[in-house]
Amino acid sequence: MPGRPLTDSLNQLDQQLLDGVRNGDGSAWEELVSQFHGRLLSFARRRLKQNADVEDVVQETFLSLVKSLETFRGEASVETWLFQLLRRRIADAHRRAGRDPHVQLCLSDSQPDSANPATTSQSPADQSASWYVRNEEQRVQDQSALLQAVSAATDRLKSERRFRDLKTFDLLFFAHWKNQAIAEELGLEETAVAVLKHRFIQRVSRQLETQTRDNAEPERSSELLTEVWRDGRPSCPKRTTLGKYVLGTLSEEWDDFVTFHIERIGCEFCAANLEDLSAEINTPADESDQLLRGRILESTVGFLNHRRDS
Ligand SMILES: [Zn+2]
Repeated sequence: MPGRPLTDSLNQLDQQLLDGVRNGDGSAWEELVSQFHGRLLSFARRRLKQNADVEDVVQETFLSLVKSLETFRGEASVETWLFQLLRRRIADAHRRAGRDPHVQLCLSDSQPDSANPATTSQSPADQSASWYVRNEEQRVQDQSALLQAVSAATDRLKSERRFRDLKTFDLLFFAHWKNQAIAEELGLEETAVAVLKHRFIQRVSRQLETQTRDNAEPERSSELLTEVWRDGRPSCPKRTTLGKYVLGTLSEEWDDFVTFHIERIGCEFCAANLEDLSAEINTPADESDQLLRGRILESTVGFLNHRRDS
């Protein structure tokens, strides 16, 4: 499928770094590690008790990135890709320790309204859009096309400042709440939530139809949207937005949405980013931080050189 357009998620800076890394440019790799390792550490620390495990999974994550450079097609930003790899490594670490490998990503998921279990209601409209998975390869293709369509739709909501809609979709697809609980939370009619959801699925479907050229048009469902919402993080504010949030320089409506997304939804990706940003603003990188960065670079440089030579 040549010439598929990249979404905004992979920005120019990401692209430059990746190009450098793919060409075996050591300084691009150093830059990439130093740019992302802080937020990955923050995320891992929230998930793992042992500090040694935390450093190991972050190191393994960067190694995984080097190994999967060829297959990464830029469906998401480098940060989102790294978070996906990190979640897998954390799940592995839990599995090794004999614990439940489920990596919780959002607080609201485990704290729905007591009267409303953490599953979305299945209206007839939902069922008409239900998804069946044919095979793994198809699933990955569907997910990648879906992520692009969803990102395009959420980017538009952000640029039009339709934050109430964004909140609704965060609660639906990220936190997995029922329509009724969402209506109560946001002061909407339950039917309004259903309509918003229906229109969003329609918009994404239309987008998909223009992207898929063959007959492999993916069927849709809330379940897969949830998966995409978690893997692709289309509603998460950009890091620059989070930086302004820390400094208190966001506009009121953006500030309100970021607070909702972090405190009410409890997005763990953004929480990790915020933690890392605050640390960056308040203190320079400490010694152990630099040591770890050195170890990451040391453990990955062989793979990079191998890429350059091959
Ligand atoms: Zn987020």
